[in-house]
Amino acid sequence: MSGTKRRVYLDHSATTPVDPRVVAAMVPCWTDVFGNPSSAHSWGQEAAVALERARAEVADRLGCQPAEIAFTASGTEADNLALRGAAWAARQSGRGNHIVTNPGEHHAVTATVEQLHGLFGFDVTQVAVDGHGRVDPDDIRRAIRRDTILVSVMTASNEVGTVQPVAEIGALCRERGVLFHTDAVQAAGRLDLNVGRLQVDLLALSAHKFYGPKGVGVLYVRRGVDLVAALTGGGQEHGRRPGTVNVAGAVGLATALQIAEEMRAAENERLERLRDRLIEGVLAAVAEARLTGHPVERLPHHASFAFRGVEGSSLVLALDLVGIAASSGAACAEGEPQPAPVLAAMGYAPEWGVGAARFSLGRANDETDVAALLDALPAAVAQLRVGG
Ligand code: PLP
Repeated sequence: MSGTKRRVYLDHSATTPVDPRVVAAMVPCWTDVFGNPSSAHSWGQEAAVALERARAEVADRLGCQPAEIAFTASGTEADNLALRGAAWAARQSGRGNHIVTNPGEHHAVTATVEQLHGLFGFDVTQVAVDGHGRVDPDDIRRAIRRDTILVSVMTASNEVGTVQPVAEIGALCRERGVLFHTDAVQAAGRLDLNVGRLQVDLLALSAHKFYGPKGVGVLYVRRGVDLVAALTGGGQEHGRRPGTVNVAGAVGLATALQIAEEMRAAENERLERLRDRLIEGVLAAVAEARLTGHPVERLPHHASFAFRGVEGSSLVLALDLVGIAASSGAACAEGEPQPAPVLAAMGYAPEWGVGAARFSLGRANDETDVAALLDALPAAVAQLRVGG
């Protein structure tokens, strides 16, 4: 990086920097309070106190009991534990064989559901998403059968920012006696995640999305929900997630969640204003650009677009050359760019879908960052269109 070039990070949905207050809370867990929280001696018990305090703080934020919180090694692992754990437990008790989900989910969910189908024979129904990436609760209602064991719908989309009607889906799942899992990885610190209000049974979080460390997540497991652990080993985390617990990570996650919740109202208001300026600016400055995802029911920091005839991955590289970090939704299969499955499911033709780009704002961003993007983007898009 050149000494003078200003860099603009607009990829907070991929990850966030760790808040220095979080680092400060974590450091003693590596140095002074370093015991194994499963050990009976005082070193272990000191670590156990720190771990249980972190668990109680997370529970308080989600409106649940500490025993309903399991720390995991990532959001991916929390989703895996929720889905595989619930499916295997249902298989064990012969409760049913059917899972309902949708094409908008993160790979942590889609790949797990695919495996449950392919390797374990679970029947899967994918309900449609509309042109904004939203699931219709009535479609979920219609998809639920007598043998349905689990519904999985994310709280908010990483790709297109759309917020799902989780509380409505939760209410109907509860009414039908079906477990409801939501991947809230993108929503934490941005939306209210009170598990009672949302009526969810399983909810996944990941610390690095809300200014906490990488490599630690949470799965909320409502009391009474039976899970078969996806990992085998010791009895940590009530047997749900064997392995010595990452105490520093748990403390970091809890601290980050506290801070994010305290900042949430003011920060959301600020980011929404910036986001709307970014959206209006991009749509005004770039021809053949569309906002992807819901225009209103969307994450406050999230702006995603499709640019016709542009490859999102090339656009990300072009913007990186001028010091701007963004993200593309397209993946590459056999050398050919492929639109993200959610965009195809939303009805985007491939020449639009491969041109997906996401700009996600964060605490350090201000108007000058949006202005820098609006300055650089039209030329980058135009250049790629000519080059293509
Ligand atoms: N779910 C969603 C919606 C995500 O955006 C991500 C990360 O991008 C994950 C799950 C996975 O979380 P982690 O990076 O902690 O494995």
